[in-house]
Amino acid sequence: MTITSTPAFVRELPGADTPRWGYWIRFGESGIAPGEEGGILQSPGAWPEQAMPLGMWQGLPVAMAHESGEAGWPPARDWLAHLPAAQGDLLATALQVNAWARDHRFCGRCGTPMQRLSHEFAMQCKACGHRSYPRISPCIITLVTHGRDLLLARNARFPARRYSTLAGFIEPGETAENAVRREVHEEVGVEIGRVSFFRSQSWPFPHSLMLGFFAEAASRRIRIDGVEIADAAWFTPRHLPELPPSHSISRQLIETHLSAVAMR
Ligand SMILES: [Zn+2]
Repeated sequence: MTITSTPAFVRELPGADTPRWGYWIRFGESGIAPGEEGGILQSPGAWPEQAMPLGMWQGLPVAMAHESGEAGWPPARDWLAHLPAAQGDLLATALQVNAWARDHRFCGRCGTPMQRLSHEFAMQCKACGHRSYPRISPCIITLVTHGRDLLLARNARFPARRYSTLAGFIEPGETAENAVRREVHEEVGVEIGRVSFFRSQSWPFPHSLMLGFFAEAASRRIRIDGVEIADAAWFTPRHLPELPPSHSISRQLIETHLSAVAMR
Protein backbone atom coordinates (compact mmCIF):
# COMPACT_ATOMS: atom_id res chain seq x y z
CA MET A 1 0.00 0.00 0.00
CA THR A 2 1.52 3.31 -1.07
CA ILE A 3 0.15 6.58 0.23
CA THR A 4 1.80 9.79 -0.88
CA SER A 5 2.82 12.10 1.97
CA THR A 6 3.58 15.20 -0.18
CA PRO A 7 1.25 18.12 0.67
CA ALA A 8 -0.70 17.89 -2.54
CA PHE A 9 -4.01 19.67 -1.95
CA VAL A 10 -4.35 23.20 -3.35
CA ARG A 11 -7.44 25.26 -2.44
CA GLU A 12 -8.15 26.58 -5.91
CA LEU A 13 -11.39 25.60 -7.65
CA PRO A 14 -11.19 24.53 -11.30
CA GLY A 15 -12.94 27.11 -13.55
CA ALA A 16 -16.51 26.66 -14.80
CA ASP A 17 -15.32 25.85 -18.34
CA THR A 18 -12.74 23.24 -17.21
CA PRO A 19 -13.78 19.69 -18.24
CA ARG A 20 -15.47 17.84 -15.36
CA TRP A 21 -12.66 15.35 -15.00
CA GLY A 22 -9.96 14.45 -12.48
CA TYR A 23 -9.58 12.70 -9.14
CA TRP A 24 -12.73 12.13 -7.13
CA ILE A 25 -14.00 10.87 -3.78
CA ARG A 26 -17.07 8.62 -3.57
CA PHE A 27 -19.29 9.57 -0.61
CA GLY A 28 -21.86 7.00 0.52
CA GLU A 29 -24.64 7.34 3.08
CA SER A 30 -22.49 5.86 5.86
CA GLY A 31 -18.94 5.71 4.54
CA ILE A 32 -16.37 6.61 1.90
CA ALA A 33 -15.17 4.26 -0.85
CA PRO A 34 -11.56 3.06 -0.68
CA GLY A 35 -9.54 4.46 -3.58
CA GLU A 36 -6.87 2.93 -5.77
CA GLU A 37 -3.79 3.49 -3.58
CA GLY A 38 -5.08 2.86 -0.07
CA GLY A 39 -6.49 6.35 0.40
CA ILE A 40 -9.85 7.91 -0.49
CA LEU A 41 -9.03 9.08 -4.03
CA GLN A 42 -10.45 7.39 -7.11
CA SER A 43 -8.11 7.37 -10.14
CA PRO A 44 -8.56 10.33 -12.53
CA GLY A 45 -11.62 9.95 -14.75
CA ALA A 46 -14.84 11.67 -15.84
CA TRP A 47 -16.86 12.85 -12.83
CA PRO A 48 -20.50 11.84 -12.30
CA GLU A 49 -23.18 14.50 -12.90
CA GLN A 50 -23.62 15.43 -9.21
CA ALA A 51 -19.87 15.89 -8.49
CA MET A 52 -18.82 19.03 -6.57
CA PRO A 53 -15.26 20.31 -7.23
CA LEU A 54 -13.09 20.79 -4.10
CA GLY A 55 -9.78 22.10 -5.50
CA MET A 56 -6.66 20.67 -7.11
CA TRP A 57 -4.89 17.45 -6.11
CA GLN A 58 -1.35 16.95 -7.46
CA GLY A 59 -2.11 19.38 -10.27
CA LEU A 60 -5.43 17.81 -11.33
CA PRO A 61 -8.98 18.85 -10.37
CA VAL A 62 -10.50 16.88 -7.47
CA ALA A 63 -14.20 16.54 -6.63
CA MET A 64 -16.54 14.67 -4.34
CA ALA A 65 -19.74 12.90 -5.43
CA HIS A 66 -22.59 11.57 -3.32
CA GLU A 67 -24.19 8.18 -3.95
CA SER A 68 -25.98 5.59 -1.84
CA GLY A 69 -22.72 3.68 -1.28
CA GLU A 70 -21.96 0.21 0.02
CA ALA A 71 -22.24 -1.18 3.54
CA GLY A 72 -18.53 -2.00 3.89
CA TRP A 73 -17.17 1.50 3.16
CA PRO A 74 -15.29 2.83 6.22
CA PRO A 75 -16.87 5.84 7.97
CA ALA A 76 -15.20 9.27 7.65
CA ARG A 77 -13.99 9.24 11.28
CA ASP A 78 -12.02 6.04 10.64
CA TRP A 79 -10.46 7.51 7.50
CA LEU A 80 -9.43 10.70 9.31
CA ALA A 81 -7.69 8.68 12.02
CA HIS A 82 -5.40 6.98 9.48
CA LEU A 83 -4.98 9.18 6.38
CA PRO A 84 -1.79 11.20 5.87
CA ALA A 85 -2.22 14.94 6.58
CA ALA A 86 -2.85 16.17 3.01
CA GLN A 87 -5.61 13.62 2.33
CA GLY A 88 -7.00 14.37 5.80
CA ASP A 89 -7.28 18.08 4.85
CA LEU A 90 -8.98 17.11 1.59
CA LEU A 91 -11.44 14.83 3.40
CA ALA A 92 -12.22 17.48 6.04
CA THR A 93 -12.93 19.92 3.19
CA ALA A 94 -15.15 17.40 1.39
CA LEU A 95 -17.16 16.65 4.55
CA GLN A 96 -17.79 20.33 5.27
CA VAL A 97 -18.65 21.23 1.67
CA ASN A 98 -21.02 18.26 1.59
CA ALA A 99 -22.77 19.35 4.81
CA TRP A 100 -23.00 22.93 3.54
CA ALA A 101 -24.52 21.93 0.16
CA ARG A 102 -27.03 19.68 1.96
CA ASP A 103 -28.09 22.27 4.57
CA HIS A 104 -28.17 25.44 2.41
CA ARG A 105 -30.29 24.42 -0.55
CA PHE A 106 -32.68 27.35 0.02
CA CYS A 107 -32.02 31.00 0.77
CA GLY A 108 -32.10 31.60 4.53
CA ARG A 109 -33.45 35.11 3.89
CA CYS A 110 -36.25 34.60 1.33
CA GLY A 111 -36.60 30.82 0.79
CA THR A 112 -35.71 30.70 -2.95
CA PRO A 113 -33.57 27.71 -4.13
CA MET A 114 -29.85 28.66 -4.04
CA GLN A 115 -27.41 28.42 -6.97
CA ARG A 116 -23.82 27.33 -6.56
CA LEU A 117 -21.13 29.74 -7.83
CA SER A 118 -18.30 28.04 -9.71
CA HIS A 119 -15.24 30.09 -8.72
CA GLU A 120 -15.55 29.85 -4.92
CA PHE A 121 -17.39 27.97 -2.18
CA ALA A 122 -20.46 30.21 -2.30
CA MET A 123 -24.15 29.87 -3.09
CA GLN A 124 -26.19 32.79 -4.28
CA CYS A 125 -29.90 33.57 -4.21
CA LYS A 126 -31.02 34.94 -7.59
CA ALA A 127 -34.10 36.53 -6.01
CA CYS A 128 -32.59 38.66 -3.20
CA GLY A 129 -28.80 38.40 -3.76
CA HIS A 130 -28.06 36.77 -0.39
CA ARG A 131 -24.87 34.67 -0.42
CA SER A 132 -24.15 31.67 1.73
CA TYR A 133 -20.67 30.33 2.47
CA PRO A 134 -19.66 27.06 4.16
CA ARG A 135 -20.26 27.40 7.89
CA ILE A 136 -17.24 27.04 10.17
CA SER A 137 -17.95 26.88 13.91
CA PRO A 138 -15.04 27.88 16.17
CA CYS A 139 -14.61 25.88 19.38
CA ILE A 140 -12.02 26.13 22.11
CA ILE A 141 -10.29 23.02 23.38
CA THR A 142 -8.08 23.45 26.40
CA LEU A 143 -5.69 21.53 28.61
CA VAL A 144 -5.85 22.95 32.14
CA THR A 145 -2.58 22.45 34.01
CA HIS A 146 -1.27 23.18 37.52
CA GLY A 147 2.51 22.76 37.64
CA ARG A 148 3.09 19.26 36.23
CA ASP A 149 -0.49 18.10 36.83
CA LEU A 150 -3.24 17.89 34.19
CA LEU A 151 -6.96 18.38 34.68
CA LEU A 152 -8.81 15.83 32.54
CA ALA A 153 -12.51 15.14 32.35
CA ARG A 154 -14.77 12.30 31.32
CA ASN A 155 -17.68 13.23 29.10
CA ALA A 156 -20.80 11.12 29.65
CA ARG A 157 -20.64 10.11 25.93
CA PHE A 158 -16.99 8.86 26.05
CA PRO A 159 -15.96 5.21 26.11
CA ALA A 160 -15.65 4.04 29.76
CA ARG A 161 -12.35 5.08 31.45
CA ARG A 162 -11.40 7.66 28.77
CA TYR A 163 -10.55 11.18 29.97
CA SER A 164 -9.84 14.20 27.81
CA THR A 165 -9.35 17.96 27.71
CA LEU A 166 -12.26 20.41 28.02
CA ALA A 167 -13.97 21.88 24.95
CA GLY A 168 -16.89 24.08 23.96
CA PHE A 169 -18.26 26.39 21.28
CA ILE A 170 -17.35 30.07 21.25
CA GLU A 171 -20.48 32.18 21.75
CA PRO A 172 -21.47 35.19 19.59
CA GLY A 173 -19.43 38.26 20.53
CA GLU A 174 -17.00 36.28 22.67
CA THR A 175 -13.18 36.06 22.29
CA ALA A 176 -11.53 32.63 22.22
CA GLU A 177 -9.59 33.42 25.43
CA ASN A 178 -12.76 34.35 27.30
CA ALA A 179 -14.46 31.21 26.00
CA VAL A 180 -11.62 29.19 27.57
CA ARG A 181 -12.22 30.86 30.96
CA ARG A 182 -16.01 30.50 30.74
CA GLU A 183 -16.02 26.85 29.62
CA VAL A 184 -13.51 25.79 32.29
CA HIS A 185 -15.51 27.62 34.96
CA GLU A 186 -18.83 26.16 33.78
CA GLU A 187 -17.63 22.57 33.37
CA VAL A 188 -15.26 22.10 36.33
CA GLY A 189 -15.55 25.30 38.44
CA VAL A 190 -11.80 26.10 38.21
CA GLU A 191 -10.49 29.67 37.85
CA ILE A 192 -7.88 30.22 35.12
CA GLY A 193 -4.74 32.41 35.12
CA ARG A 194 -2.60 32.55 32.00
CA VAL A 195 -4.04 31.25 28.70
CA SER A 196 -1.80 30.53 25.69
CA PHE A 197 -2.64 29.46 22.15
CA PHE A 198 -1.28 26.08 20.96
CA ARG A 199 -2.56 25.34 17.42
CA SER A 200 -5.83 24.67 15.60
CA GLN A 201 -7.40 21.64 13.94
CA SER A 202 -10.34 21.31 11.58
CA TRP A 203 -12.91 18.88 12.99
CA PRO A 204 -15.52 18.33 10.25
CA PHE A 205 -18.33 16.81 12.40
CA PRO A 206 -20.09 18.72 11.08
CA HIS A 207 -18.03 21.95 10.81
CA SER A 208 -15.93 22.74 13.87
CA LEU A 209 -12.60 24.52 13.96
CA MET A 210 -10.89 23.52 17.20
CA LEU A 211 -8.67 26.26 18.66
CA GLY A 212 -6.28 24.61 21.12
CA PHE A 213 -5.15 26.44 24.28
CA PHE A 214 -3.12 25.72 27.40
CA ALA A 215 -4.72 27.20 30.51
CA GLU A 216 -2.95 27.54 33.87
CA ALA A 217 -5.24 26.89 36.81
CA ALA A 218 -5.36 29.50 39.58
CA SER A 219 -7.24 27.10 41.88
CA ARG A 220 -7.37 23.27 42.19
CA ARG A 221 -10.80 22.61 43.66
CA ILE A 222 -13.03 20.88 41.08
CA ARG A 223 -16.80 21.26 40.97
CA ILE A 224 -18.25 19.39 37.97
CA ASP A 225 -21.42 20.48 36.23
CA GLY A 226 -22.81 16.90 36.30
CA VAL A 227 -24.48 17.39 32.88
CA GLU A 228 -21.86 17.30 30.12
CA ILE A 229 -19.06 16.18 32.44
CA ALA A 230 -19.45 12.87 34.32
CA ASP A 231 -16.14 13.14 36.18
CA ALA A 232 -13.04 15.35 36.29
CA ALA A 233 -9.81 14.99 38.22
CA TRP A 234 -6.19 16.11 38.48
CA PHE A 235 -3.71 13.57 37.10
CA THR A 236 0.08 13.44 37.49
CA PRO A 237 2.19 12.67 34.38
CA ARG A 238 3.04 9.25 35.89
CA HIS A 239 -0.54 8.13 36.50
CA LEU A 240 -2.72 8.92 33.51
CA PRO A 241 -6.12 7.53 32.50
CA GLU A 242 -6.99 6.26 29.03
CA LEU A 243 -6.37 9.20 26.65
CA PRO A 244 -8.00 10.33 23.36
CA PRO A 245 -6.56 9.04 20.04
CA SER A 246 -3.20 10.37 18.81
CA HIS A 247 -4.55 12.29 15.77
CA SER A 248 -6.78 14.49 17.99
CA ILE A 249 -5.65 17.97 19.05
CA SER A 250 -6.70 16.97 22.57
CA ARG A 251 -4.01 14.27 22.66
CA GLN A 252 -1.47 16.66 21.08
CA LEU A 253 -2.10 19.20 23.87
CA ILE A 254 -1.57 16.46 26.47
CA GLU A 255 1.59 15.07 24.82
CA THR A 256 3.08 18.56 24.42
CA HIS A 257 2.58 19.27 28.13
CA LEU A 258 4.04 15.87 29.10
CA SER A 259 7.17 16.47 26.98
CA ALA A 260 7.62 19.96 28.43
CA VAL A 261 7.40 18.81 32.09
CA ALA A 262 9.64 15.75 31.42
CA MET A 263 12.44 18.13 30.35
CA ARG A 264 12.25 20.30 33.48
ZN1 LIG B 1 -33.04 35.08 -1.13
